[in-house]
Amino acid sequence: MSAVTTGRIHSWDLSTGVDGPGTRFVLFVSGCPLRCLYCANPDTWHMRDGREATVDEVMAEIGPCGGFITTAGGGVTVTGGEPLLQPAFTAAVLRRCKEAGLHTALDTSGLLGARASDELLADTDLVLLDIKSFDSTTYRKLTGGALAPTLGFVTRLEALGKRVWIRYVLVPGWTDDEIAVDGLAAFLSGLGCVDRVDVLPFHKLGAAKYDALDIPFPLHDTPVPDPALVDRVRGRFREHGLVAH
Ligand code: SF4
Repeated sequence: MSAVTTGRIHSWDLSTGVDGPGTRFVLFVSGCPLRCLYCANPDTWHMRDGREATVDEVMAEIGPCGGFITTAGGGVTVTGGEPLLQPAFTAAVLRRCKEAGLHTALDTSGLLGARASDELLADTDLVLLDIKSFDSTTYRKLTGGALAPTLGFVTRLEALGKRVWIRYVLVPGWTDDEIAVDGLAAFLSGLGCVDRVDVLPFHKLGAAKYDALDIPFPLHDTPVPDPALVDRVRGRFREHGLVAH
């Protein structure tokens, strides 16, 4: 029996794409210490807005999907919000998934990486690590938090031999600076743990959620990146020997 049996969650869903390999059961937990200007899920920011769920309840939802997602080369991804804001609950879910023979992924900003125990990481097959900028000043302005813990976390993942996919949201005027992109690419190319870099074009699909919450969407007037810019940034990562999508 897991020591921690309840957490606060936003929702769950099935997805195929950027949440890890294959078809994923994606668990969105509530609460996030960052406030990314482009965040598409402001409804996950506060733990109080989530609902309490037990690990057993989560596993009961995953159970019927287990065969299907495994056959489809997938697994379970814990995301948010920020899963490491509830590290014991997240660890318990990951543990139960591993006991069920499921592939596991943890989607995190890395800000709270120090809260991830070695046991939690041992039950994590893949870390989806969002590095939101390689420039610490830009990172602070974009997210409200500090970059250093994320870089420290990926260094720890490297030492542990974890598999890592980097996620990089491309926002014109914010994260398209070539020097910063090249700096990140050079840093990542020195890490053997990084299997791929997903360059995710900024979008405004979450704008309606801001309206519903009656808070301003800070990047309302920021353009989405054009395909040529996305290709160019992916190309910068590839020039450093990285697999970029
Ligand atoms: S870390 Fe994720 S959930 Fe938190 S504010 Fe940033 S984009 Fe939103």
